[in-house]
Amino acid sequence: MARFVFITGGVVSSLGKGLASAALGSLLQARGYTVRLRKLDPYLNVDPGTMSPIEHGEVFVTDDGAETDLDLGHYERFTGVAARKTDSVSAGRIYSNVLEKERRGDYLGKTIQVIPHVTDEIKEFIRIDEDEVDFMLCEIGGTVGDIEGLPFLEAIRQFSQDKQLGQCIFMHLTLLPYIAASGELKTKPTQHSVKELRAIGIAPDILLCRSKDNVPKKEREKLALFCNVRPNAVIAGPDLSTIYDAPLNYHHEGLDQAILNAFRISPAPRPDLTKWKDVSDRFHNAEGEVRIAIVGKYTQMEDSYKSITEALTHGGMANRIRIIIEWHDSEEFEKKASSTVLSGSHAILVPGGFGKRGTEGMIMAAKFARERKVPYLGICLGMQMAIIEAARNVIGISDAGSEEFEQELTNDRLVPVVFHLKEWIQGNYKIERHVDDDKGGTMRLGSYNANLSEESRIAQIYQQTRIDERHRHRYEVDIKFRKKLEKAGLIFSGMSPDGRLPEIIEWADHPWFFGVQFHPELKSKPFDPHPIFADFIRAARDVSRLV
Ligand code: GLN
Repeated sequence: MARFVFITGGVVSSLGKGLASAALGSLLQARGYTVRLRKLDPYLNVDPGTMSPIEHGEVFVTDDGAETDLDLGHYERFTGVAARKTDSVSAGRIYSNVLEKERRGDYLGKTIQVIPHVTDEIKEFIRIDEDEVDFMLCEIGGTVGDIEGLPFLEAIRQFSQDKQLGQCIFMHLTLLPYIAASGELKTKPTQHSVKELRAIGIAPDILLCRSKDNVPKKEREKLALFCNVRPNAVIAGPDLSTIYDAPLNYHHEGLDQAILNAFRISPAPRPDLTKWKDVSDRFHNAEGEVRIAIVGKYTQMEDSYKSITEALTHGGMANRIRIIIEWHDSEEFEKKASSTVLSGSHAILVPGGFGKRGTEGMIMAAKFARERKVPYLGICLGMQMAIIEAARNVIGISDAGSEEFEQELTNDRLVPVVFHLKEWIQGNYKIERHVDDDKGGTMRLGSYNANLSEESRIAQIYQQTRIDERHRHRYEVDIKFRKKLEKAGLIFSGMSPDGRLPEIIEWADHPWFFGVQFHPELKSKPFDPHPIFADFIRAARDVSRLV
């Protein structure tokens, strides 16, 4: 029988609720329990796949092909549990399910209402596979008081009543602002937030208070008294120099003990925190640093590349190297000389993206890396741009481009070396797509196999020749140009099992130049860095030692 922890947020957003949930998951695992984390988001998009990364941050893709909130990335990075389609839901998806059922006649004769129809749909989602784990951690997106969040809060209130006494607890994450003029940490916003929660029938068992520094005893006691929680259930969450200290820090603060107390689990199993001590040690005791240039089109919002920056940090941990990221907007980059911008970097990463804007800058970055022999990692769009660069500047197809940019081009001589994929195989099924299909959920999404050429450098990096990686794209490199490019030294070292879709390319005559059609960053963990990122940072370190 699973126990449920519902995590809500108050006062302001962006306090790190996803991270705190993920860290709690890892602490429960450290005590020997199995966990699963879920995110319930109140926005009306059916999933975040159609939202701008600049507005909502990165879209995290699961093995089974769901486009989800970036918090699922934190969950995976901290617990190592692969998220599934059924771990993320939005109000848009809930309402769309309810309306579909209504049209089908499932509620025939009834008036459809938020309570009970929408709340029942939410509860049904929370219950999926509930008995697989010891603890199910469900995070409610947004902040208490948001209009859209109300059906979700009502649903979790009902849910706790449907379950046995003591099977569900509530953790509320808030902010204690510091007022410099009076030198005080303020508890009032938290008191109001808890009051608001209690007005809708939810009494938090645990208060997790984010603050700049530690929370003194006086403020803890005040919060316990005014918010009606036990003093040792007021947990401080001061800012940390790395998110990977969060498990150790929350443990030190007594979070996992407070959770077990709230469930009346006694005696509590002893935690084994060796893994997190090692991760923290690798981060804090680096023996050098490298500068990695990221040339991308969504650089004004670092959350757009959350998994990439985390995977770089993991690669740094694998090599005991600190990572300094230099952000370059690829559109701005087009106006400058590559050498003035990139000559101080030890490696270059061109990440994924959509649409033509900024892609010429990415092509310039790939050219610079190829010619100057700087380590280059092109991810998805970053691989496609490396191919276009090779086609234009190495084998002389001066009009090489991608079909993705066709409508935006004035040049109708475009030679598509990257084309719109219309059908492919997934498992035993053939998937078909058309140019005018809906945009939501129609890309090549989720985990696909690739075969790596024996003896290739990429096979050495992976230490195997069959890999599984997550995809999220509509366009593909055309193998029509393979022979010509290979003659010029660009090896197609990873291919889809049917041999039609290039998955990995590498320049033979280059110390470290790879393009990958998939997103390796999505599977990297601090305690299990992705081999591509670990080797990329090793190559960058080698460059840093030369200069
Ligand atoms: N826009 C490209 C495509 O759809 C690349 C996508 C990506 O980088 N994730 O194929």
